[in-house]
Amino acid sequence: MPLVEARNLEKTYITGEVRIQAIRKIDFTIEPGAFVSFVGPSGSGKSTLLNMIGCLDPPTAGTLSVAGKDIGTLSRKEGAHFRGEHIGFVFQDFNLIPVLTVYENIEYPLLMVQNWPPAERKKRISQILAAVGMEDQAQKYPGQISGGQKQRVAVARALITNPKLVLADEPTANLDRETANRIIALMKRMRDEFGTTFIFSTHDPKVVKNAEIIFTLEDGALKQSDNGGIYA
Ligand code: ADP
Ligand code: MG
Repeated sequence: MPLVEARNLEKTYITGEVRIQAIRKIDFTIEPGAFVSFVGPSGSGKSTLLNMIGCLDPPTAGTLSVAGKDIGTLSRKEGAHFRGEHIGFVFQDFNLIPVLTVYENIEYPLLMVQNWPPAERKKRISQILAAVGMEDQAQKYPGQISGGQKQRVAVARALITNPKLVLADEPTANLDRETANRIIALMKRMRDEFGTTFIFSTHDPKVVKNAEIIFTLEDGALKQSDNGGIYA
C-alpha cells in the first residue's frame, strides 16, 4: 500500500475576488521508505502540497490519503491527532525553541504528543542525538550552535516520535550548499536506519539531485520529470 496517494488533488485559495489555483489536479503515489523531493520555483505550490499532506490545510477537491487514511475528510482536531501520531515536520527556519536546550527541544514532541515513561524518553533522546551527531551539544541552546547544527536538531526532533513520514519544507534554504547537502545526506541516512519516509521540497536543483524520486511542480501542476517522475 502506498504511504501517500493523491488523486485529482486540487487546492484553490480564494482571497476576495481572486482565485488562486495553488495545486491543479495532480496525481502521485509515494511508497513507504521513499526519499522524495518536490522541486519547483517559488509560488509553484510546494508548501501548499506539503501542508496538505501534513493535515495542516485541507484539499479543495480530489483525494489525498496518508497511511491508508483519507485525510481530506478529517476535522481539524482529527488532523492534528493524526499528525501527532504519524508525521514529523522540519521547517526552513529550523523553528527551535530558543529557551530550551538542544536536548529539551528534541524531548518536546514526546511530552506534547506521546506519553512516554521518563526512562524510555531519555534512552530514545540519547539514541537520536547520537544518530544526528549532536550528543556532545545536548546542553547547548539554539543560539549557541550553527545553522547546520540547528537543522540537525530539527531533523532529530521530527524523528523523535518515530513517525512514518517526515515532511521538510525547504529544509536547506537557509544553509550554505555544503551544509545543505550534509542535511539531505543525514535525512537519507535516517531513512535507511529507521525506515522513515522523507518528503522534502526545494527550489534548488543542486539539492534535489540527492533525492531518489523527484516530482517537478510548475504553477501548481506536476510536470513530467526528466526521469519520468520515478527514480532519479
Ligand atoms: P511555494 O511553496 O512553491 O513557494 P506556495 O505553495 O507557497 O508555493 O504557493 C502557491 C501559490 O498559492 C502562490 O501563488 C501563493 O501565493 C498561493 N498561496 C499560498 N498560500 C496561500 C494562502 N494561504 N492564501 C492565498 N494564497 C496562497
Ligand atoms: Mg514554500
